[in-house]
Amino acid sequence: MTINNPNKGMQCVALDENGVQCGEPGRPSQMAGLRIVTCGEHYREAFCAREAVAESTYYLLERAGVIAKHTPGWTYIVRLNDGTVKIGTVTSESERNLARRLRRVGKAYNEGIPVEVLALLKGGRSMELKAHGMWRPLRVTNKNGERFNETPELMAWIAEQGIDPSGKAVVEAHEEWRAEQLRRPQPVDLFADCDW
Ligand SMILES: [Zn+2]
Repeated sequence: MTINNPNKGMQCVALDENGVQCGEPGRPSQMAGLRIVTCGEHYREAFCAREAVAESTYYLLERAGVIAKHTPGWTYIVRLNDGTVKIGTVTSESERNLARRLRRVGKAYNEGIPVEVLALLKGGRSMELKAHGMWRPLRVTNKNGERFNETPELMAWIAEQGIDPSGKAVVEAHEEWRAEQLRRPQPVDLFADCDW
């Protein structure tokens, strides 16, 4: 049985500075209200550009002094095994959603390894935009997941933020779960030496 891939043969429509089409294998995604086909790299580029616009809008409002409080949720900062930190958000006030997200980040962005929570800030999307904008020059642009390169300045700022009391219980439970997961023996590949 063959599975039909509806995206087969689709090519990225992005043009380079000379007007030449990228043409790498791509798939459709929603971008600024349009459905267009992009490769992974051009998708990330467009995503980063959209985020940069959102971040500068946030700072425009902050400078105008009209930000009275942050949108609901939390902004979490975790350490990933590739040596970067991820700054992400949970746009919900539910502790259960926060707990679930912290676990899922390990699965989605850390090769399944539970992540260490370095800081938790009160405030959802608006706080995330603020933090992302603050550290934009450190942003990793060739990988998914809003990652930032570690520098002493970033790490000092993260340590200053700490864990907001509103999410302390969730983070403590997460760290307990994480320690337990890391203590478990790793599955052994029984067939690693078999030559077949
Ligand atoms: Zn492309």
